[in-house]
Amino acid sequence: MKFISSRWLPITLVAVVCGVSIVAWWHHQTTDDQAVEAPVKPPRIPLSALSPAPVWSLLDIYQESISRERFQQLVEEIYVTGDGWKEWLEIQEDAAVILTGLPSPKDRYVLKFSEQAPRSAPRFWRTADELPPTTADRPLQDLHIAIDPGHIGGDWAKVEERWFIVGDGKPVMEGNMTLDVALLMKPRLEALGANVSLIREKNEPLTLLRPADLLENNVATAPNPSGMSPQKLAERLFYRTAEIHARAQKVNNEMRPDLVLCLHFNAEAWGDPNHPRLIDRTHFHILLHGAYSSDETKLLDQRHRMVQKLLSGSHDEELRVGSTLAREFARTSGLPAYQYPPLSFAVREIKGEPFLWARNLLANRLFDCPVLYIEPYVMNSTIDYARIQAGDYDGLREVSGKMQPSIFREYADGLVQGLKLHYLHARKLKTIP
Ligand SMILES: [Zn+2]
Repeated sequence: MKFISSRWLPITLVAVVCGVSIVAWWHHQTTDDQAVEAPVKPPRIPLSALSPAPVWSLLDIYQESISRERFQQLVEEIYVTGDGWKEWLEIQEDAAVILTGLPSPKDRYVLKFSEQAPRSAPRFWRTADELPPTTADRPLQDLHIAIDPGHIGGDWAKVEERWFIVGDGKPVMEGNMTLDVALLMKPRLEALGANVSLIREKNEPLTLLRPADLLENNVATAPNPSGMSPQKLAERLFYRTAEIHARAQKVNNEMRPDLVLCLHFNAEAWGDPNHPRLIDRTHFHILLHGAYSSDETKLLDQRHRMVQKLLSGSHDEELRVGSTLAREFARTSGLPAYQYPPLSFAVREIKGEPFLWARNLLANRLFDCPVLYIEPYVMNSTIDYARIQAGDYDGLREVSGKMQPSIFREYADGLVQGLKLHYLHARKLKTIP
């Protein structure tokens, strides 16, 4: 009983200290998962919007599972940017000492390192070499892939600022396009043996919250560094924060896949959506998880999540799958690698992998398994805009004076081909007697 009460102490404290007011909507919800999404007030206890206080005992399963050298390497090369982490994490000879900030600012969590070979703690996802042997014609047999078509699209495309129109052209809506690609990928992956789940199947949100709910209850407590209007802030809390939390619940509690692919189309700043700026370059990159900034790890939920993600071992699998996927996608699409500006504080380069970068995005932070966040094409480039306007079609057609496949099929086929290659090489094959 003592264990249970101390485990829930942080949440209880947050509820008391912050005087959490639960939205009327939540009164109708009964699951624990929804209850822990209760809004908290960041100025008193530093937490990200809509995030519950972390439960540090969740890291107990990782005690003595990683060596000091590997832990330090992952922290310094993948998971942080800058030096701010040294204020809350001390890497000692036999343990990492982490300031948890809860229940009081001086509280600590001690993670012991292992002197033995690393071991993996219990988890629902499997690496390629943990899957059962398969045959060369079914390289994705037994693999469970979840596809997250980025954004919402449809009636929400303007609200989520993923909509623009050029003259009399068709409006460009990223959320509709990512779902189109996901629907093309599903049967292709299934034909190779995969079990495929789409995190959304319509251009509608998963979250039951709407901007009006958030306007009343959360706006006053949400971080707002750029001084957005309350309406804009409530909309962003809806389409980004609440929506991705809802997707994370579906991934972590229902789907429990081996891998998530978050599909996006990239863009560069386009200004007025009714008179967007078109540019003449296109590019491609894939994001793995990492690159927590000093400001982000001041938020206690993100500090906890960074350590938990690091210990889960998901980086190694993201790197292995991402590496083949990126090379194959670049080869089939011909897209050049995107280069973040030199001194970007929010990203880390992945050594030897020109198409891979690490970033701390909400989806790859909240999903409890390896996540690859795919960012090909530039929707407001003259090159890709013409291909988007041409729509989806079979085979090749002349677009911008060149015979090309539909941009949607090129996207779907490039990823499917990359996954096929990776799992074919990384998995054990059945020996035929
Ligand atoms: Zn996107």
